[in-house]
This record gives sequence, C-alpha cells and structure tokens, in this order.
Amino acid sequence: MFENLSERLGGVFDRLTKQGALSEEDVKTALREVRVALLEADVSLPVARDFVKKVQEQATGQAVTKSVTPGQQVVKIVHDALIDVLRGEGDPGALKVDNPPAPILMVGLQGSGKTTTTGKLAKRLKEKDGKRVLLASLDVYRPAAMDQLAVLGQQIGVDTLPIVPGQKPVDIAKRAKQQAVMGGYDVYMLDTAGRLQIDEVLMQEVEDVRDVVSPRETLLVVDGLTGQVAVEVAEEFDNKIGISGVVLTRMDGDGRGGAALSMRAVTGKPIKYVGLGEKMDALETFEPDRIAGRILGMGDIVALVEKAQETIEAEQAERMMKRFTKGQFNMNDLKMQLEQMLKMGGMEGIMGMMPGMGKMAKQVQDAGFDDSIIKRQIALIQSMTKKERANPALLQASRKKRIAAGAGQQVSDLNKLLKMHRQMADMMKKMGKMGKGKMMKQAMK
Ligand code: GDP
Repeated sequence: MFENLSERLGGVFDRLTKQGALSEEDVKTALREVRVALLEADVSLPVARDFVKKVQEQATGQAVTKSVTPGQQVVKIVHDALIDVLRGEGDPGALKVDNPPAPILMVGLQGSGKTTTTGKLAKRLKEKDGKRVLLASLDVYRPAAMDQLAVLGQQIGVDTLPIVPGQKPVDIAKRAKQQAVMGGYDVYMLDTAGRLQIDEVLMQEVEDVRDVVSPRETLLVVDGLTGQVAVEVAEEFDNKIGISGVVLTRMDGDGRGGAALSMRAVTGKPIKYVGLGEKMDALETFEPDRIAGRILGMGDIVALVEKAQETIEAEQAERMMKRFTKGQFNMNDLKMQLEQMLKMGGMEGIMGMMPGMGKMAKQVQDAGFDDSIIKRQIALIQSMTKKERANPALLQASRKKRIAAGAGQQVSDLNKLLKMHRQMADMMKKMGKMGKGKMMKQAMK
C-alpha cells in the first residue's frame, strides 16, 4: 500500500555515492523524503516537522561509514532519533501494582479494544507477575459489555465482580474495592464505559470513579489505526482524567505506527503496551525499535549500517592491537587513549566505575590530578609535529623546548608525559610477547 521508504530513497541516493561527511545538501534531500514517509505513516505534521528539524541538526557533518551510502546513513540517524522520541523513561511495561489491592483504571472510547485489553492485561499480571486479579465492568449502559468481561474472566481464569443490575458506576467501583480488600487481591481492574465520542457525562463519570478509588495506573486504550484521532483522544483524556500510560491496540493491522510517535511527542505519556490481535495473549510491551522500523519500513538498512560500523570498529581495534604489541605505540595513539579517558568522564569517571575506587578517585582529585592534567597532556601532543608524533624518539632538547613552550608548559611536564608514554609502550609490548594464554596464567597466580 505504501511506497517503501527505502525504494523512495533509492532513487534520490543513487547519485550520492561519494564517501565522507554528510553535507547539508545530502541531509536535506534525504530528510525531505523522510518527512513524506512520516506523514504517510500518519505522524502529525507539526510532529514530523519538529522531528526532521532536530535530525537535520544532528546529521549534518556526521561521517559516513565506509561501505554504506549517505542515504543509508541518514536513515540510520533517523531511526535512532525515532527510538529516542519513542522511548519513555524506565521500563515501559512496568505497572505500579504495589500496595495491594492496587486499582487500575481502564479508559477509552467504545470499540478501542478496552475490554479485550483489560482481559489481556489481567492474564499477563496473573501469569507473568503471579498477581491475584479482580475484574469489574463499570459499563452500565451495555449489559452485554458486563457479560463480555465475565466470559473473558472465565476464559483466562481471573475472577470478576458479580454483576448487580441497576448499580451506578461509582457504587460498583466501591464494591470492587471492598471485594478486593476482603478477598486478598493484589490488583483490581475497572473497565469503564466507553462512548463513540468523548462526551461530558462520560468524562464526569470516569472522574468520579477516579476520585473514589485513586488508581495507581490509569491506562488509556486507543485504536492504533485511528492515527491523529488517537492523539486527540489521548490529549482530552489526559487533560480531564490524567492518564499514566497508553495501550495502542490493533497494531497487528497495516497501520504504520505513526500514531505512536505523535502520541509520545504530543502527550509525553509512555506507551506501555501494544495489542497485536484478538487473542488473550496478543499483548506485548512497547518496543520502540520495532515501531521505529515499522514507521520507516526499512529494518534492513538499519541493520546494514550497524553492521558496517561494527566491522570497521573491529578492524580498527585489531589493527591497533597488532601495532601496539609490536611496540609501535606512538604519540597519536597516546592522544587517542587520553581523549578516550576524557570521554569516559576523566580520571574520576573511570575510577568511580571500578568497585572500591570511589574513595581513591577523591584522593586523586585532592592531589591535584584531574581532567585538566589530561587536557594539558593532550595539548603537549598537539604541539608536536606530525613526524614527532609518529616517532617520539626524535624528541631532543631543542624540540622539547619548542613543544613545551607551544603548549604553554615546562619541559619537565613534557618529560613526565614521555615517561608515561614509554611505560605504556613497554607494557603493551610485553603483553604481546606473553600472548593471551600466558597472560591468563600470570593473572591466576
Ligand atoms: P471496547 O468497546 O473498547 O471494550 O472494545 P472491545 O474490547 O470489545 O474490542 C472491540 C473489537 O476489537 C473486538 O472484536 C476485539 O477482538 C478487537 N480487538 C481488540 N484489540 C485488538 C487488537 O489488538 N488487534 C485486533 N486485530 N483486534 C483487536
């Protein structure tokens, strides 16, 4: 039905086969297509526009990985950015169901899949989390809805609150709470009535129920196929009732999942689950990377770029190790190591990560050894010529003076750096000679 984004981009990028950094023009061309793809996937216009703008800034100037095209690279960047937006904080599937009995309020429009989802979630809580669950239908307008929940309960082996004809929703909620306390249930779930559209009476009713039970979770069930409408519904429910999360149903259909992106961007609420069918076990926790792949329709390209990046990194690391073990550890290598240290949060960061080293990190800092020292060492290396960096043996007195002065430091500072470099080079050479096997034995002694 939809033209695949990879097909769409294919034409544009056939001529962009050069390597190197992504130019602003490359990125713009690619993102124009990405924007159309987002709109086709039912992402709302303002959300698509904001998103593309953010990616544009991020992507321009980024290096293109060898063996992929700029277009493929842009897709990978877009994919990662989508995941960033889609991923909420913490564990998406985690529900607050401590302090038994924990009330869960299920809200949404009629036909969104609310009752089905209530059953699915109850089954999951029972089987995965070992919770004792009580279900209650508050849909007093459609007796069939109450029966539907009772049948579902029987099917999944979860208790339902006995139906008392003529009772009001708030009273049913109170009765459910009472029953949950007396019966020793961990969780009780209230399946509220839905309407075809949002109306005041319905909202008021849900508000009253909310005030009676103070739900630990208020989950909005929306039909993932309705796109923009789903987002509007979520905004309304959140403004009036306050929701803690969203369940997107019918994600097994051929919707492109754009609603998920708009939903997250507009409401800021986490998408906790997706419904993937009518059966009681067709409920999964929300996985941002799956939806991102679906919106773009090009998981293959993302995998390709990832693989290319990994291969290149592995090749680089291997080449470096080979040189080091032959004693070829030059100033460029040392600079890279120092920069790596800074990236990992400097001395303090590295030591803080090692168990028991937290205190020592503080001592090191108190002794005046901090990131500024690493930065000064890098400055010394930057003050060397290309030749000197590649071959530190060249460094005699006059050169040393020039380098130190260039970095605004003393020759003694440079000597310290050179000593450190020699020690590291020796150590790596030794490691190379010992080989892996011996090194292990040494470590076991
Ligand atoms: P409610 O009115 O919101 O309670 O909606 P129901 O739970 O009765 O669901 C309406 C219809 O949608 C039923 O036929 C369900 O089987 C179906 N349904 C619910 N969730 C899903 C889903 O994730 N995928 C599919 N394909 N159908 C679903």
